[in-house]
Amino acid sequence: MACIFCKIVNKEIPSSVVYEDDKVLAFNDIAPQAPVHVLIIPKAHVASMAELEDMEVVRDLFSVMKRLAEEKGIAKSGYRIVINHGKDAGQAVPHLHFHLLGGRPLTWPPG
Ligand code: 5GP
Ligand code: ZN
Repeated sequence: MACIFCKIVNKEIPSSVVYEDDKVLAFNDIAPQAPVHVLIIPKAHVASMAELEDMEVVRDLFSVMKRLAEEKGIAKSGYRIVINHGKDAGQAVPHLHFHLLGGRPLTWPPG
């Protein structure tokens, strides 16, 4: 059975898409933690950093994140890019995703 983000890629589950090409999908997080909270994912299923082998897609993902930060108006004010990997980081969805967060001051260090 496809994972939840694969279902979002396949449009079996609706999402608020902010960017899409043949390799990358970006959509608004359903439970935003900041005024801008976008999830950026490879369309091809990669469960986590541990399974990541195609480093070309990383370049594509970063290119999209940089562009989205500019489009969302947070490139100057600042933003944070996060990957939660595994149990201690609280990874909830087993499909590699970057969080792009911004639009307010973000506390550091994280909890
Ligand atoms: P993780 O903790 O795995 O790094 O983050 C998973 C993120 O996916 C969470 O921020 C959560 O709010 C978001 N999320 C989970 N299910 C859905 C969904 O069905 N749609 C959208 N747009 N976001 C989701
Ligand atoms: Zn998946």
